[in-house]
Amino acid sequence: MNQLSPIHDLLVIGGGINGTGIAADAAGRQLDVVLCEMNDLASATSSASTKLIHGGLRYLEQYEFKLVREALGEREVLLRNAPHLITPMRFRLPHMPHLRPKWMIRAGLFLYDSLSRRVSLPASGAIKFTDADPLAPHLKDGFEYSDAWVDDARLVVALAKLAQEKGADIRVRRKCVAATAQNGIWRVDLLDKDTGKIETVLARAIVNAAGPWVQRLFAEVAPSQTSRAVRLVKGCHIVVPRIHPGEESYMLQNDDGRVVFVIPYLHDYSLVGTTEEDFVGDPTEAAISDWERDYLVALVNQNFRQQIAIEDICHTFAGVRPLLADDEDSASKVSRDYLLELSGEEAPVLTVYGGKITTYRRLAQSAMAKLRKIFPDLGDDWTESASLPGAQFESYDALLEALGAQYPWFDSELLKRWASAYGSKTFVMLEGVRDRRGLGEDIGHGLSAREVEYLCEHEWAVDAEDILWRRSKLGMKFGPVERAKLDGYLAGRRANRGS
Ligand code: FAD
Repeated sequence: MNQLSPIHDLLVIGGGINGTGIAADAAGRQLDVVLCEMNDLASATSSASTKLIHGGLRYLEQYEFKLVREALGEREVLLRNAPHLITPMRFRLPHMPHLRPKWMIRAGLFLYDSLSRRVSLPASGAIKFTDADPLAPHLKDGFEYSDAWVDDARLVVALAKLAQEKGADIRVRRKCVAATAQNGIWRVDLLDKDTGKIETVLARAIVNAAGPWVQRLFAEVAPSQTSRAVRLVKGCHIVVPRIHPGEESYMLQNDDGRVVFVIPYLHDYSLVGTTEEDFVGDPTEAAISDWERDYLVALVNQNFRQQIAIEDICHTFAGVRPLLADDEDSASKVSRDYLLELSGEEAPVLTVYGGKITTYRRLAQSAMAKLRKIFPDLGDDWTESASLPGAQFESYDALLEALGAQYPWFDSELLKRWASAYGSKTFVMLEGVRDRRGLGEDIGHGLSAREVEYLCEHEWAVDAEDILWRRSKLGMKFGPVERAKLDGYLAGRRANRGS
């Protein structure tokens, strides 16, 4: 750190969906942006969501019309901008007469269909269940509606790549440990988790996009900044062997008024969630509790013919929502809307409270509108029609065909996995590969040295967790032997590079 250290425009703290979304939008408007993330990209809430790009049918009951309209509108935008990561999904809602009358659900679905223009998603409708359906025999009537599914962690990486392509400097494993403002400039210390060294960054403005740490960040790093009260709400999911064969998802209503989704997941599995309860403590330690396991298993068993047991659970994950505190007793009724606040007497800080994966782009746009006060020459909105990195293809089928034609020796399932993860960037990952051996060492379940190198060089992956759970979901398949092989490969790689 010396007199010549550059003064950046914006330092974004937090590499979840909101931090990367803001970094990409700001960099695309020619701001000089640095983003720091203390762990891996999407290592917190943004990889632990239900993975829905949705308006949130149940939020209509809480009169959250603004949020629902904005989120519904985003479905079509995001389906267009990242079709490899986001796909349409049909949802079935078994009718429970004692919980909500049919007219209420019909009215809700009518609103859901009408609040925003649909281009590719079919309208909602009533449905009769028969013996051919996977539901328990007492469930005879229901409804269907459309939303979309997203690979949340990969969406975050795609946004980080977009930010980088627009000139942003993305620094992972850098924890913001101190921030002081003087003469209109922030001086921020980032602790490099690998070397233990401190890097100092100067910036004209900072964005606190630390998700569930939003309040803690101010308290620990910049005590002069005050924060609004945040309510942390934990939500958990379980993954079990596939409960039903179809491609549609189910939205189950419980007697406590909550809803739980059962979603086809990675071909062989079903994702079931979420629970909701207030959370205290370090968000990195959030984990599923026994009652949450029991709750989700019981709800599946009440609604499906196929019965599951606790022993069937293959994987679980927990995330913590940072919601704006209000007087609501029930965690599930606290507003999911976001709030942005520009403050700072010595130098500006923009704080992000709340937000959903679905609305990240609109949130980033609103953040830019706030930052225009600091940067009056900021460019216009641009992200609505901007394809994300990897989305440079005409249709998913055309992409698969092109990959199959160029790499005929690879198994079609492997090509599908790559196409769904990397989209058109698969060609970058496979550049120069002339046959199967071109992938290098086989680490297991289709993961090769070539792919690992790509993830480390182009997607900020560092350790096995990054690769197995966020860049891919191969963690579902990897056993201890393959895991040790991957750890060994990465350790060898680090040793060769002298770090
Ligand atoms: P995060 O993803 O938590 O990112 C914050 C980042 O800041 C973290 O990576 C953290 O490591 C980093 N950080 C913190 N402190 C520091 C520091 N000092 N220095 C550097 N970095 C730091 N939304 C939907 O649209 N659809 C859904 O289906 C959906 N389902 C959900 C289900 C559950 C159970 C939960 C909990 C949420 C769900 N959401 C959903 C909401 C959505 O996941 C979150 O609102 C969103 O991921 C929050 O993103 P974020 O970037 O604000 O926070």
